[in-house]
Amino acid sequence: MSHAPQTFEFQAEIKQLLDIVIHSLYTEKEIFVRELVSNASDALEKLRHVKLTEKDIADEASELEISLTTDETAKTLTIQDSGIGMTRAELIENLGTIAHSGSKAFLKSLSEAGQKNANLIGQFGVGFYSAFMVAKSVKVYARSWRTAEPGHVWTSDGSGSYTVEEAPDQRRGVRIVIELKDDCGDYSKEWKAKEILERYSAFVSFPITLNGTRVNTVQAVWLRNKAEVTEEEYTEFYKFQAHAFDEPRLRLHFSADAPLTINALLFVPKENTEKLGFSRTEPSVALYCRKVLIDAQPKDLLPEWLRFLKGVVDSEDLPLNISRETMQDRALIEKLNKVITKRFLKFLEEEAKNRAEAYQEFYAQFGIFLKEGAALDFTHKDQLVKLLRFESSLTEKGKTTSLADYVSRMSAEQKDVYYLIGPNREAIENGPYLEGLKARNLEVLFCYEPVDEYVMNNVREFDGKKLQAADRGDLKLSDLPKPPGEDTLTEEQTKALTEWLKTTLADRVEEVKASDRLVGSPALATNADAFMSPQMRRMMRAMNREGADAPLKVNLEINPRHAVVRRLHALRDSAPDRAALVGEQLLDNALIAAGMLEDPTRMVARLYKLLETA
Ligand code: ADP
Ligand code: MG
Repeated sequence: MSHAPQTFEFQAEIKQLLDIVIHSLYTEKEIFVRELVSNASDALEKLRHVKLTEKDIADEASELEISLTTDETAKTLTIQDSGIGMTRAELIENLGTIAHSGSKAFLKSLSEAGQKNANLIGQFGVGFYSAFMVAKSVKVYARSWRTAEPGHVWTSDGSGSYTVEEAPDQRRGVRIVIELKDDCGDYSKEWKAKEILERYSAFVSFPITLNGTRVNTVQAVWLRNKAEVTEEEYTEFYKFQAHAFDEPRLRLHFSADAPLTINALLFVPKENTEKLGFSRTEPSVALYCRKVLIDAQPKDLLPEWLRFLKGVVDSEDLPLNISRETMQDRALIEKLNKVITKRFLKFLEEEAKNRAEAYQEFYAQFGIFLKEGAALDFTHKDQLVKLLRFESSLTEKGKTTSLADYVSRMSAEQKDVYYLIGPNREAIENGPYLEGLKARNLEVLFCYEPVDEYVMNNVREFDGKKLQAADRGDLKLSDLPKPPGEDTLTEEQTKALTEWLKTTLADRVEEVKASDRLVGSPALATNADAFMSPQMRRMMRAMNREGADAPLKVNLEINPRHAVVRRLHALRDSAPDRAALVGEQLLDNALIAAGMLEDPTRMVARLYKLLETA
């Protein structure tokens, strides 16, 4: 064979590809390092397989490793591996034609996208040719594992052609020397190369050294057998991968073979940082393909409400599929999303069942995300609703119940699930809405978070039972047996009193009626505004939103059995002026209890008047 360099034209498709790679203004040029390192890793993997069956291997004893060398003066970056290497024919076939999968699919997707889409390059990498984004010239020294094959060097500047000539004294494997373009000199700096290797290649299984120093020391824990990973290793990995300082609260390590090959290791952090007042968490479960980072923050890998998760998802199915046209990429990500979400929900269900206390602690931090999902993610709503927890009129303070448990305690007559929203347990227990339900042995869920109303309204029902706010004006409750001999206004008196109150209170109320849900309180106010609840009103006011100033619309319910109401009835004839004051005050008290009194100044003035006449 001749020793003189032989010149070859690139195949037409390669020329086209090189033209795009070199001329597209692409910001993440650094991915060329990832591409060359993963080619090196592939070549080492292949050698490992060859070793299983072949005896006669060049440089048999050499370590399987990848070494990078930077030379700032010469402006070069060298990447060397001791993998299977390439013969002369393989150099021409692999680097001069488009026979191999990745780049071919890339070209196809480009022609389908109809333009130079710089983003595509970032997502797929364009394999070996990405080196030409930064290179004046690329030299590939290669020596095959086959002992009879001599070494060769492949050289190109990325324009139309390349040369191949024999190169004696090569070690097995491939050594790529990149002579950097003038404006890409940074890649010949050690710190720069280190930064890139740490970002993309931290988990590559073969040792990587940079100027003689080992850079990848963390294992791809997610690919190991669960039984063989220690707690410390998990925690160490979590801290490294999530850049975290805390210990993980929960961990899910799983693999699946169908419908996709997935290895995933997910962590729930100790603390919910959104709750601590930090800004919205960015999704940060990273996407890998066989230990090589594809995307550190993939947007649609998980539903929004799982944005608190940390960790890694690795799928071997990625390179084959992800280089196809964009539509299919999305389909693949959607598939991954489905499988992982389903698995994580199942995991939470098991946690809730088997480790209730830990689940409760998790829920206290991250329950808000489950609520968000239950309200907004229709696909997973049913499973999410099962994971929600509330205090109730039957639980102790600080203890919670699930909706399923609530339903299991319902009597045959009870049709709906009742809930009350309030700032805390005391406020709800001392408010006027609970007593009527309590008297009828109806359990009421207690909701303390501002989002709860929105969540309950969106969830609407559970297990075929309506979720019903117990402070609504149109709440229908069964009749209570009247205690014998109880003092109460007659129906006629009650009617007269409600009519008088309506006239007296005029625009302040929509309706006044006798109540069947009051036991120990004289009156209660309910919201009569179909479009805005008091909670919503408060939230809008807090956010300075329009509509918060619309006049309040309330209904007043009175308790004809209560002494205050009976006195008021009598007072109407004896002291009509004072009766009017008492009537107004009754409404204000009910508004306070409902958290709906907006301006107390008039009330204070009135109270002084009442005190004067006392
Ligand atoms: P892909 O990795 O998707 O096949 P690349 O453009 O990255 O595409 O690489 C093209 C081909 O060149 C590879 O499939 C492989 O056969 C060969 N190759 C590249 N780098 C090496 C290497 N370091 N050792 C051996 N073969 C290599
Ligand atoms: Mg490659």
